Amino acid sequence: MSDSLLAAAETAPTLPGFADVRLAASRLAGVAHRTPVLRSATADAITGAQLFFKCENLQRMGAFKFRGAYNAIAALDDIGRRAGVLAFSSGNHAQAIALAARLLGVKATIVMPADAPAAKLAATRGYGGEVVTYDRFAEDREAISNRLAAERGLTLIPPYDHAEVIAGQGTAAMELLEEAGPLDALFVCLGGGGLLSGSLLAASAMAPACAVFGVEPEAGDDARQSLRAGRIVTIPVPKTIADGAMTTHLGRLTFPIIRDHVRDILTVSDARLVEQMRFFAERMKIVVEPTGCLAAAAAFDAAPAWQGKRVGVIVSGGNVDLAAYARYLAG
Ligand SMILES: *Cc1c(COP(=O)(O)O)cnc(C)c1O
Repeated sequence: MSDSLLAAAETAPTLPGFADVRLAASRLAGVAHRTPVLRSATADAITGAQLFFKCENLQRMGAFKFRGAYNAIAALDDIGRRAGVLAFSSGNHAQAIALAARLLGVKATIVMPADAPAAKLAATRGYGGEVVTYDRFAEDREAISNRLAAERGLTLIPPYDHAEVIAGQGTAAMELLEEAGPLDALFVCLGGGGLLSGSLLAASAMAPACAVFGVEPEAGDDARQSLRAGRIVTIPVPKTIADGAMTTHLGRLTFPIIRDHVRDILTVSDARLVEQMRFFAERMKIVVEPTGCLAAAAAFDAAPAWQGKRVGVIVSGGNVDLAAYARYLAG
């Protein structure tokens, strides 16, 4: 082996596999909700496909992130559990870590910007997390998190680039495939790619013929660029209402899984997300946050290619500020 190949082999991360998804499912049994798979005659009539909506907006704390967070904390050894965990996030991952840690009797420290929405700070504290705030404009959250982790011996749990997080997120697609049977296509939204890479591990093992599509906001198409370029492309923080997908790059673990298994990466405009949010409210009676509408919007748009086929859609979350939601619905 040449020196450069040796170096590449040494630094190549160990990727999770389907066995890790199955292990995650056993840890989550009886703890995470087995969320419903909804059908809609109207959606089928509009698209001409048979759609199966996996409703993670009805998951504990309102998003699939509970799955990965719980699996990651449950996988810690006794020393790690006694010391506690740390996450930096202002979104669903923070609440997921706080809730999962409380359920497992582990102390969670969450680093959030001081100007994060009051509702999010309150929700994270409400789930039992200790919130440490920082000034977004003057301080670096990674530096603060690393210092806290070192001082207190905490285990940092990142939102997507982590084997147990990916495996946990994969249990949503696993349940969908168990319930709906083999699908012809599966649409999954993506930010950092934890949910998509976990879904790919489940689908490759359980339904190898299923074409899995990743869906990201039009304004933040770093994954599509990365797939085309064959390497991780980093973009500036995208401007989009899909706040769960405002990531700037894929991870060291999520990129190779996506590169090797995804059929393609599609994009959706903010205007389509608002339309889809209204469809969910009006026709299916469910509250879905903008990011949670990405996969469904792309599935509707791609439907001409899937006439009469069985198409899965992961509805990733339902945490939307009610005032903003009312504005979206009012249009
Ligand atoms: C975090 C999140 C996403 C993106 O998940 P990744 O694993 O980062 O790709 C999508 N939807 C919702 C609701 C989220 O909270």
